[in-house]
Amino acid sequence: REPQRLSKVLAAAGVASRRSCEELIFEGKVTVNGSVCTSPQTRVDVLKDSIYVNGNRLSKKLPPKLYFALNKPKGYICSNGEEPKSVVSLFDDYFRSWNKTNPGIPKPRLFTVGRLDVATTGLIILTNDGDFAQRLSHPSSELAKEYIATIEGRVHKRHLFAISEGTQIEGVHCIPDFVELLPAQPNASRPRIRVVVHEGRNHEVRELIKNAGLQLHSLKRVRVGGFKLPSDLGLGKYVELEQADIRLLE
Ligand code: URA
Repeated sequence: REPQRLSKVLAAAGVASRRSCEELIFEGKVTVNGSVCTSPQTRVDVLKDSIYVNGNRLSKKLPPKLYFALNKPKGYICSNGEEPKSVVSLFDDYFRSWNKTNPGIPKPRLFTVGRLDVATTGLIILTNDGDFAQRLSHPSSELAKEYIATIEGRVHKRHLFAISEGTQIEGVHCIPDFVELLPAQPNASRPRIRVVVHEGRNHEVRELIKNAGLQLHSLKRVRVGGFKLPSDLGLGKYVELEQADIRLLE
């Protein structure tokens, strides 16, 4: 095993996000083998070096890697969990008795894989596996993301055509992979459009809808890669992913 950067080791041990770990190091809160270390780049070996954070010894054990699919409710933000309305707060119950049931094992620190806007609902993956998250959210992963956009007012062929032509986002012309009007449902008054994209640019689907001259009522993500949001998963509820589910995401 190669020695790794101190900030990475702290983040992997579940201390805090990589950024917050760097701050702890800069602030002189971290010691390595008895000396304060203020450089996040310092290479350390978690098994050989003795590392303390705020006077507490860093566990040599790593937290287990966890993977969840959450049905995100409206009003929650996809952040690293330090804000009250972060999607991570929906997992408080899961971790409440962690230290009792997993003595000596650091608590996993979840973050989202990519982001959904605060008003968007539906499928978001959370994990504490940084490499997995980075692989998935990298543009080169080309992972398909499927959304159901509910629209105010009527949808005509020309609107669908305009969506399929794409739009400029952050200087890049984004063209959706697939667009279709869903059949009207007897109990739903608003038309719904299925949009599949793979770029994952900020507000991509909202921009596509707006650019086509349509007004969005609500937006829900229902699929990432080969993994579909389970239809019986209520808003704010999550399922832990099995290896077979995780493979569908890569
Ligand atoms: N596109 C959007 O516009 N919003 C999201 O939350 C996700 C994709």
